[in-house]
Amino acid sequence: MDQRACASCDYRRVLNESFDPTAPRRSDHPPATIAPIDLRLAIGDLTGVGPQWSARFAHLGLRTVGDLLKHLPLRYETEAAEEAVIEAKAATAQSETTLTRTVRGEIQRVKHIPSRRPRTEALLADESGTIRLVWFNAPWLVKKIHPGARGIAQGKAKLRGGYLEMVNPKWEALGDGLGEERVIPAQVGRLRPIYPATEDLQSARIDRVMSAILPGALASIVDLVRPELIAQRGLIALNDAYRMVHSPLDGNEAEIGRTRLAYDELLSLQLAMAMRRWQVRHAMHAPALPMSATVEAKILSRIPFELTDSQMQVCGEIAHDLSDTMPMNRLLQGDVGSGKTAVALYAMLIAVAHGHQAVLLAPTEILAEQHMHTLCGMLDGSRVRIAALTGSLRTADRAVVVNGLASGDFDIAIGTHALLGDEIRFKSLALAIIDEQHRFGVEQRAALRTKGPTQSQVPHTLVMTATPIPRTLALSFFGDLDISSLRGRLPGRTAPTTRVMPTHRSGEVYSWLQSRVARGEQAFVVVPAVHESDLGLKDVASHAEALRTGELAGCRIGQLHGQLKPAECESVMEDFRLGKLDVLVATSIVEVGVDVANATVMVIEHAERFGLAQLHQLRGRVGRGGKPGFCVLIGDPPTEIAQRRFDAIASTTDGFEIAELDLKLRGPGEFFGARQSGLPPLRVADLSRDFELLMNARTDAQQWIGGTGDLTEARDLPLRRRVLGQYGAALGLSDIG
Ligand code: ADP
Ligand code: MG
Repeated sequence: MDQRACASCDYRRVLNESFDPTAPRRSDHPPATIAPIDLRLAIGDLTGVGPQWSARFAHLGLRTVGDLLKHLPLRYETEAAEEAVIEAKAATAQSETTLTRTVRGEIQRVKHIPSRRPRTEALLADESGTIRLVWFNAPWLVKKIHPGARGIAQGKAKLRGGYLEMVNPKWEALGDGLGEERVIPAQVGRLRPIYPATEDLQSARIDRVMSAILPGALASIVDLVRPELIAQRGLIALNDAYRMVHSPLDGNEAEIGRTRLAYDELLSLQLAMAMRRWQVRHAMHAPALPMSATVEAKILSRIPFELTDSQMQVCGEIAHDLSDTMPMNRLLQGDVGSGKTAVALYAMLIAVAHGHQAVLLAPTEILAEQHMHTLCGMLDGSRVRIAALTGSLRTADRAVVVNGLASGDFDIAIGTHALLGDEIRFKSLALAIIDEQHRFGVEQRAALRTKGPTQSQVPHTLVMTATPIPRTLALSFFGDLDISSLRGRLPGRTAPTTRVMPTHRSGEVYSWLQSRVARGEQAFVVVPAVHESDLGLKDVASHAEALRTGELAGCRIGQLHGQLKPAECESVMEDFRLGKLDVLVATSIVEVGVDVANATVMVIEHAERFGLAQLHQLRGRVGRGGKPGFCVLIGDPPTEIAQRRFDAIASTTDGFEIAELDLKLRGPGEFFGARQSGLPPLRVADLSRDFELLMNARTDAQQWIGGTGDLTEARDLPLRRRVLGQYGAALGLSDIG
């Protein structure tokens, strides 16, 4: 019988008793018999979890029962029913396929056999017979497997010479510490949750403690989301959801439970985004900068080419935003080389035309210099005064800039993070543009917003990124922004041709590269490391040297990486730009924005180590000057996924498509947006597949927030507190409720 059913009213006893750990029947307990466990109760205060164990839980960030409840399984394993050895043997003899079997017993003999492939052999016995367990290359077993040790072995069983044998079975030691030996019931198909665990706190242990606290903890859960909403979305109650993720009857339940938890997570984020969106738009205002035909004609006359339809459309969206006192808060995404700089200039000149100032923030000094170069070129001979501010400016020059921005002597400031400093004040900042968003997060946007003339007067903001953000991520992490996209290529541009080459053929790549250099073209060679390390990765200095003395003898080779001083960086870039260098060996620092028209070849070593979006960025650096560009990815994809990523990048040139694909293949964890946004990562929702759920949460949040911009009803206040606690600081939400 299910012992927990009667013991569950006392979780302290439960921990010390043997019980059926599958217990999917938990929710069948009549509610009245369950003593709720306070979710704030420390894990160390549970009977059976001493200080040593609670320290191990704390290592995983789990301190209270509530923490534990939120510690969700990574996945589930189907647990094979346990059998006596003799049954397992008979079944194996009869079966044509090799099946997973589970047996329990005591280790009788152990042999450690050192050889080139060291192996451990043990004989496990129960009352009915013995089975041989063999592990290869498993030195950690030496401590665990010894005569007298009891445990459960689970693995594929085979008959070998009349002997039943399992190779590399899973081994779960039994009978030490917490609780008695657990029983795996003769019920096939139980889903065993596999939890994120550590070396000394294994998943099975977490599972057992979880099972013990679950009924009581579930009884303490308060659902903060309005029941109407849950019902309307066809979701389940929160305590059912937790039961289903920790102790699902089947895979379906696990997913239903996960969906509810993911919805809650997305809803909180979307509520925060909706609150922020409202606050930015209503609690603050920006100067209205209406556009006139004369102003527009003047601005367009400064741009030395005709804007594409796509550029014109985006310029229109921006001009429309700027004409209003509601602050613009817009994200402009456009592939590498799609012409974002011209759009930025267009927007800045609107501000300048109205006698205000604009700032353009770049992530690196190289980029800031480059923007300076471009914009000064286009504004040559106009009355617009531009200042550059970077960290490496000399004190005297810096003072000139700082004073000039405060007095209004400069109309446009271009610079790096240095522009965010507290001491930087503007006379009348009306527009802030952040280029290459992925180096800047919410915090930087907030810092810029304080640079307006008064507390409630903020600049319009435009964030530009060349890394297209998949829609789900954009809505999640930049949900407070409006989005514009530049699509299509500029006239006369073709995408670089991309090839993948295995490492052993890199010699051919370099001799071909020689031939391009001989025609007067230039090339980047990107490597993953700055310095030599024991990872066996190519690094800038050694690779440059190897090429100089070997495959690229005779070429003028420069080196560029982020650990050089800014002045050195700039002089290397300048030499490359001027054609004094043929080849630049660099780290991915050249990924962002670097614009050298004569560069036609991008070779990327260890390409498997770079993200898809990053590879796409890198290849966007070549073929920008009218000559066709080439990108060669050198690498040996170690996995099937890596191979698919290579195939994708070689066959697609649309950055938007690549972004969506990258998200699917890698999941959002690694992805641009999540970390860079400065927001806490999502733990349950998976943005590569929860699109619909996200859209629902977004709609619900917006409706809920409605016209007040906040959660104001008394019954929603606990939820409001939670949302502000989670996101208030990161999003700079003010507590206006
Ligand atoms: P990104 O979007 O990567 O910042 P840029 O703004 O640097 O791209 O533009 C890439 C190049 O294309 C620049 O040399 C720029 O002068 C040029 N360019 C931009 N728009 C046009 C256009 N409409 N017609 C022709 N060339 C353009
Ligand atoms: Mg750019």
